[in-house]
Amino acid sequence: MNNSLLLTEEQLLLKKTLSEFSQKHIAPHAHLLDQNEQFPTENLQGLASLGVMGTGIDPELGGSSGGYQELAVVVEEIAKACAGTSTSFIAHVSLTLATIYNFSRPDQREKFVPGMIEGRDIGAWCLTEPDCGSDASALSCQVEKNNGSYVINGTKTFITNANEASLFTVFARLNNQPGSKGIICLVVDRHSPGITINPLKGKMGIRASSTAEIDFNNTKVPAFNVLGQEEDGFKIAMQILDSSRIIIASQAVGIAQGSLEKALSYSQQRQTFNRPLAQHQAIQFMLADCATKIEAARLLTRRAALLKDQNLPHTIESAMAKLFASETAHFVTDKALQIHGGYGFFKDNPVERYYRDAKITEIYEGSSEIQRLVIARNILKLYQI
Ligand SMILES: Cc1cc2nc3c(=O)[nH]c(=O)nc-3n(C[C@H](O)[C@H](O)[C@H](O)COP(=O)(O)OP(=O)(O)OC[C@H]3O[C@@H](n4cnc5c(N)ncnc54)[C@H](O)[C@@H]3O)c2cc1C
Repeated sequence: MNNSLLLTEEQLLLKKTLSEFSQKHIAPHAHLLDQNEQFPTENLQGLASLGVMGTGIDPELGGSSGGYQELAVVVEEIAKACAGTSTSFIAHVSLTLATIYNFSRPDQREKFVPGMIEGRDIGAWCLTEPDCGSDASALSCQVEKNNGSYVINGTKTFITNANEASLFTVFARLNNQPGSKGIICLVVDRHSPGITINPLKGKMGIRASSTAEIDFNNTKVPAFNVLGQEEDGFKIAMQILDSSRIIIASQAVGIAQGSLEKALSYSQQRQTFNRPLAQHQAIQFMLADCATKIEAARLLTRRAALLKDQNLPHTIESAMAKLFASETAHFVTDKALQIHGGYGFFKDNPVERYYRDAKITEIYEGSSEIQRLVIARNILKLYQI
């Protein structure tokens, strides 16, 4: 597709660089990482050395130019090569690093940000709990203020990167205060006492990313590590989800694009009834629908990223982008597998992996039902009678 009107010269160059890197260094390992549920340490180190972990961060802290438009370009290319790697990258960059960078004082930034940009410190973002996912304001992990420091007790679950991370951003309830105003956000050093990590194995997709439960048992955190004001935690989480959903949308576009390209190639090689599959109109219609949906998803994602980069409201737009892109990834990966027939049903075929990887984009960072709630609530407000 001709992207020259939609992307600047610099963004096109970034896309080319990331595409070449991801196809050369990430894609060849995607199958084995998936099969072995192996964390993509080398992929993340390679991405750190390209400088993309610091996208949009002050150069004085080691960051580079750009914003969410650039991050979306980067993540689409990583996800096309290995969705699991893109999940680890997103949890580190657009969840944890973005939370710390955007809601910290200068002395906190200086302490935490450079190591994360260089990939020395991997981050994990800890909101979900065993009894609370979609309704984050109901979380029950407890924090008590004690002699100027904070003590955490409770459990977080489904946390990406938890096992490999050295820094966590933890959302918890301060001094048992009710509601969303009672939630604080703390940076927690993984080596603090009282932390137990229980890896969760056996995921359906994005198996190169790691997922774990974290138990905090009287874990002491210095007052230095509070992000924003004590009562800001919920607001921070919601703002970060608003922007990170744009990046999940670009992950979904990358998964969809990767599987469509496999289908385009296979449908021109495989013959049935004396002609390539691609010459049967039913197959052509599937390919056309997939390509059209992907372009629409990419445009919605780009619009949301543009709004975010201009500091304009983008809650509805990022929810729409995530909703449409994730359902597009579901649709396209299904059609791509169908076009591969029986061969697509085997694990050594990348379309089988894309099909499994697509599903999570409809669940995490707010499920499709939650995106619909966000969109409906906001459009009803806009057209109130
Ligand atoms: C692989 C993986 C990685 C993850 N990584 C992280 C991470 O790094 N950090 C983190 O904090 N969390 C993470 N999560 C958690 C993820 O964000 C939650 O699983 C998700 O928000 C859904 O929460 P839940 O699983 O508790 O489902 P529930 O909230 O129990 O919802 C169950 C179902 O009910 C639907 N539902 C709920 N409420 C409503 C409603 N009001 N109306 C209509 N339908 C509704 C949901 O859409 C869903 O389909 C991860 C999850 C997975 C599986």
